[in-house]
Amino acid sequence: MNDRDERLKILADAQLDTQAVRAGQIRSQEGEHCEAMFLTSSYVFDSARSAAERFSGEEPGNVYSRYTNPTVRTFEQRIAAMEGGEQAVATSSGMAAILSTCIALLKSGDHIVCSRSVFGTTTVLLNKFLSKFGVQTTFVAATDYVAWQAALQDNTRLLLLETPSNPLSEIIDIKKMAAMAHEADCLLVVDNCFCTPVLQQPLALGADIVVHSATKYLDGQGRCVGGVVIGQQVHMEEVLSFMRSAGPTMSPFNAWIFLKGLETLRLRMEAHSQQAQHLAEWLVPQVGIEKVYYAGLPSHPDHQLAARQQKAFGGVLSFEVKGDKAAAWRFIDATRLVSITANLGDAKTTIIHPATTTHSRLTEDERLQSGITDNLIRVAVGLEDIADLKADMERGLNAL
Ligand SMILES: *Cc1c(COP(=O)(O)O)cnc(C)c1O
Repeated sequence: MNDRDERLKILADAQLDTQAVRAGQIRSQEGEHCEAMFLTSSYVFDSARSAAERFSGEEPGNVYSRYTNPTVRTFEQRIAAMEGGEQAVATSSGMAAILSTCIALLKSGDHIVCSRSVFGTTTVLLNKFLSKFGVQTTFVAATDYVAWQAALQDNTRLLLLETPSNPLSEIIDIKKMAAMAHEADCLLVVDNCFCTPVLQQPLALGADIVVHSATKYLDGQGRCVGGVVIGQQVHMEEVLSFMRSAGPTMSPFNAWIFLKGLETLRLRMEAHSQQAQHLAEWLVPQVGIEKVYYAGLPSHPDHQLAARQQKAFGGVLSFEVKGDKAAAWRFIDATRLVSITANLGDAKTTIIHPATTTHSRLTEDERLQSGITDNLIRVAVGLEDIADLKADMERGLNAL
């Protein structure tokens, strides 16, 4: 075994923290310690023969950065190792990861079952665009397993879910869903954006494919938009083939940022989770608060499942204030420290009113069915000092 093979083997067997810092690194002849950023669209070949062999795939190596780039590949190998998947394909955004998965693995006439509480744009992608190409989707309540089962049709090929759900922290049993999917000859796709591989590894629980919006916790500092699909090689080869043909590719610059994000991911996820737990417990007894949604609270209906399935409960919580939409808006407008923005997974705490922003494209009926009430506020807890965060929430409470 040469040095490189030996190193790869050690990393494949290493713990997540080690993989997060070292997996996938391809050193150039310069011997750089930090991963190099290969900002190049194409690659030169030694000869006409070598060019031909690269194009045909006989000779391994890079051809064009629409589908291979060393920096992007390093990111792919690192996140694949951390999720425990055979292969990863990086994409230009989280939405591109979901789109690429569906286009690569489905055909006209196929059917998807999807949890109703997925990211809003995922719903639009499935309902408005995939349906144009003959792929229909049935949406079901996230934790209604009878409804999931009842929604399966002969042509169902893919089950798509997100756990914990946004913004109510419902937890879906991945093991149970994997068994249901495989019984029906379907693939189970899990959007692991809220937990990241640090808190939850869906592939180990039986899921076939994991998708991420790298934009959120993988970056962790709100700089870049990106996504990734992870799974078995047979499926990823199809996704990669779609990337080569369609090009929703991750830029090497963004891949480099995400690589640096992965190195601190565990420390950040632990800190986000601790802070969110603290804030959730502090909010519960406040007089202005009607209800707090956070799976880390023992009162949450899915608390036991979350404690089994996840290493911690994550950084996102939501709560209903006493009053209506106007009260929720007054709460938000009275804060001075946190950012009013829909993004999450950032070192900076964010606050948003889901009913009029992230979930405003749902009809009122759909919104109420999903539990997105007018007095609901979502907070994605960042890394500021918890005392300052509580003081800011107090400003909100005082404005109710
Ligand atoms: C943000 C998000 C997406 C979409 O990702 P983009 O990078 O914004 O395209 C998909 N799923 C979840 C759960 C998200 O939070």
